[in-house]
Amino acid sequence: MQNEFDVIVVGGGHAGTEAAAAAARLGVRTLLLTQNLDTIGQMSCNPAIGGIGKGHLVKEIDALGGVMALAIDQAGIQFRTLNASKGPAVRATRAQADRSLYKRAVRRLLENIPNLHLFQGMAGDLLMEQDRLVGVRTETGLELRAGQVILTTGTFLGGRVHMGDQNYAAGRAGDPPSNALSQRLREMAFPVARLKTGTPPRIDGRSIDYSVLEAQPGDDPIPAFSFMTRQVNIPQLACHITHTNARTHEIIAANLHQSAMYGGHIQSVGPRYCPSIEDKVVRFAEKTSHQIFLEPEGLDTHEVYPNGISTSLPFPVQVDLVRSMRGLENAVLLRPGYAIEYDFLDPRDLYPSLESQRLPGLFCAGQINGTTGYEEAAAQGLLAGLNAARRARSQSAWVPGRHEAYLGVMVDDLVTRGLDEPYRMFTSRAEYRLQLREDNADLRLTPQGRKLGLVDEARWTAFSRKQEDLESERERFRSLRIRPEDPLAVRIAAHLGQPLTRDVTALELLRRPDWDYASLTAVLALSGCADSRVSEQLEIECKYSGYIARQQDEIERAARWEGMCIPEDMDYSAVRGLSTEVMQRLSRQRPQTIGLASRIPGVTPAAISLLLIHVKRRS
Ligand code: FAD
Repeated sequence: MQNEFDVIVVGGGHAGTEAAAAAARLGVRTLLLTQNLDTIGQMSCNPAIGGIGKGHLVKEIDALGGVMALAIDQAGIQFRTLNASKGPAVRATRAQADRSLYKRAVRRLLENIPNLHLFQGMAGDLLMEQDRLVGVRTETGLELRAGQVILTTGTFLGGRVHMGDQNYAAGRAGDPPSNALSQRLREMAFPVARLKTGTPPRIDGRSIDYSVLEAQPGDDPIPAFSFMTRQVNIPQLACHITHTNARTHEIIAANLHQSAMYGGHIQSVGPRYCPSIEDKVVRFAEKTSHQIFLEPEGLDTHEVYPNGISTSLPFPVQVDLVRSMRGLENAVLLRPGYAIEYDFLDPRDLYPSLESQRLPGLFCAGQINGTTGYEEAAAQGLLAGLNAARRARSQSAWVPGRHEAYLGVMVDDLVTRGLDEPYRMFTSRAEYRLQLREDNADLRLTPQGRKLGLVDEARWTAFSRKQEDLESERERFRSLRIRPEDPLAVRIAAHLGQPLTRDVTALELLRRPDWDYASLTAVLALSGCADSRVSEQLEIECKYSGYIARQQDEIERAARWEGMCIPEDMDYSAVRGLSTEVMQRLSRQRPQTIGLASRIPGVTPAAISLLLIHVKRRS
């Protein structure tokens, strides 16, 4: 086997697969080294991609030529647009996946990328030569060389599974942990800490009484994820909804002391926004019921994922609590739920490129950086893969700004603020969220992706065609002028409830709240646009143009100082007027730019003004 590469990616989960795909697409020799080739792209927990904030990340990954959106479009068994009735900034796509189709799709996509080699093995050590990173050594002693290594080890580093008072070492149920590498990272003084997450038991669908449950079908037409997908061709299934009740809560409360979490077996912190059912019952004691979604795991399996009852209670208690719910009275469980504790590395130790400040050439992406979720992992993976490949080619790193992408928001949050609980994406994390919509992810990122070498010819052609269609649709609406004396004015007046008093263009009408694209084209007897994504784009652009322009002004104002570099040898004690606390924080973190400095917790706007004056004086 060849053992010299430019980039080695350790781990074939969601971060690792995007990292490997991005690096290889740039043309550098890339190795994806993973514990088990059969678990490439495996969904450790819920069989779903997207959701609010997360769907935005998936669209961005897609706009940059990544894998995740294409894979879910080849594996999705239910697609929905969440928040469809709300503003475009918070609308988000979510899809249930057929777990095994998803894995197969990821593997197929990777196997079709030139320069990408797959190898099954467990990284046990980083190969070092005179303090320089030169590759990895597997647990069986095989040496694989590369100047750039990306760690995407997920929940596997020092992983320990908990169920009641039982616990054992594992990366997730059924897979061994990565203990040798965890040990080495600790010895090398990387900032290692622990987090936890959990998963619910799985149910045999044949034992569920669907007749008493509310069904939730997907949307029709199906909202695909990828900008490249014209149509999803997979049979679609409904989810079902049940609820916890007083009896469920009684069972949990009576057995709380047996839960790994509350019985004192787990000390680390779990995701606040994805709490276990024990947590929900304790923290929201006033709530008498929680909604539980019964999500099918695939087309050719009866396995069902009950979303909302992640637990570390002993298995017999899990059976009781599941059976206390409507429709689940005779439920047969196929797998127990469990919690898992694992190591993560403090992401404040990384540059925004996701390269380690401590060890040049080492990159980290995904759950190892303290995030939770497939989408967060995948987006970081893409960035790390891109930047590792750029480093291999002696090119400078590329990182999107907070105003350009949720990916930019996430990376900036991670490297400047760090975390004390698993980090997941929300639209509320973005200050410029009107700009960072799902619908315009391609407009924001595909041209940049093309320049970086991530976007292939087919995607670029499709993108360019969409741009042309949008421009000609805009022009069609702009050039259609209606005068008060035209026969069309009567129909418009009927719709508005008042006569037209001056000339208007169709574009001006579309800006008004009284119209949407469909009603306007109907009244004006215009043919609709063949591509609904183009008409949606035009409508959003028109309706929100005022707000978008205002946000653009804000971005430009902030950009004037955001990217200003702080000299590497900056002596913060020499900045006049800076408090000792702020001086210590800045000295510890050594931000590269004024923008990064402004987002360090405790660094006030007043301190930033002092820093700005000082940096300007020095330059
Ligand atoms: P993973 O998907 O975990 O992939 C890691 C990969 O690295 C695996 O392929 C593994 O085999 C490989 N690997 C590890 N160590 C080595 C090594 N030394 N050498 C070679 N290969 C190695 N997310 C949510 O958003 N919500 C949830 O409720 C949720 N619950 C979860 C519950 C459980 C029990 C688990 C295990 C995960 C849960 N997650 C949840 C997290 C979600 O699975 C992860 O966020 C996501 O999979 C992270 O992707 P990743 O690529 O970083 O890591």
